[in-house]
Amino acid sequence: MTMDDSRPPATVDWGQHALFLDFDGTLTPIVARPELVALAPTTRDLIAALVRATSGAVAIISGRSLADLATHTGDLGVTLSGSHGLELRQPEQEITLHGQFSDALSAAARALSPVAEAHDLLLEHKPGAVALHYRARPDCGDIVRRAVEDTARDLGLRHMHGNLVSEAAPRGIDKGTALAGIMAQPPFAGRHPVMIGDDTTDEDGFASAQNMGGFGLRIGGTDTCAQYRVADMDSALAWLDRSLRG
Ligand SMILES: [Mg+2]
Repeated sequence: MTMDDSRPPATVDWGQHALFLDFDGTLTPIVARPELVALAPTTRDLIAALVRATSGAVAIISGRSLADLATHTGDLGVTLSGSHGLELRQPEQEITLHGQFSDALSAAARALSPVAEAHDLLLEHKPGAVALHYRARPDCGDIVRRAVEDTARDLGLRHMHGNLVSEAAPRGIDKGTALAGIMAQPPFAGRHPVMIGDDTTDEDGFASAQNMGGFGLRIGGTDTCAQYRVADMDSALAWLDRSLRG
């Protein structure tokens, strides 16, 4: 694949497409404390324009819990999926799907708690995953990855290694299944899904979008199944802005 092949199309007919966006690293820069992120006003305006262009077919799919994600997105009129697809909130309703996994996730949180304490790491017990963040301790990546892999294996969960975070989560649910589930419903059904993300956990979303006749756009990184790539978050947002004017 040459560089030109990896460049996203100059224009998108948003009347025929649906848009799926990761949050951290895609709509906001990665910051040391996850609670300190904020959507820039220009990004908020861009999302609002995309909601209009797609008649509401815009979703944000994040590893954050739905409650946390909603705090940062506010009233954008978009569909939200939290905890890597375990939680879903459409503008008119809320569905939460985490009850059957809560015992294994509680056990994972207990197992990882001593690791978090020993290295001064943030341990987050979300409705659909347990996340060990090392944004504040980038030197602890190997320790975190190994601890989360061991814990997940012992408890029958799967592990995910993201950008300065590793997580244990239920098997069989990911950003790809979230995208497919949302695509089955109006106003998404019948459109071509476009998925944009910056992390390995977004790869399931890219694959799902491409299986459904759309495409993926990966921010940064080279090892990706996404059809298109851009170098950084600002390039992705600039592309989205231009795609609206085409
Ligand atoms: Mg991300």
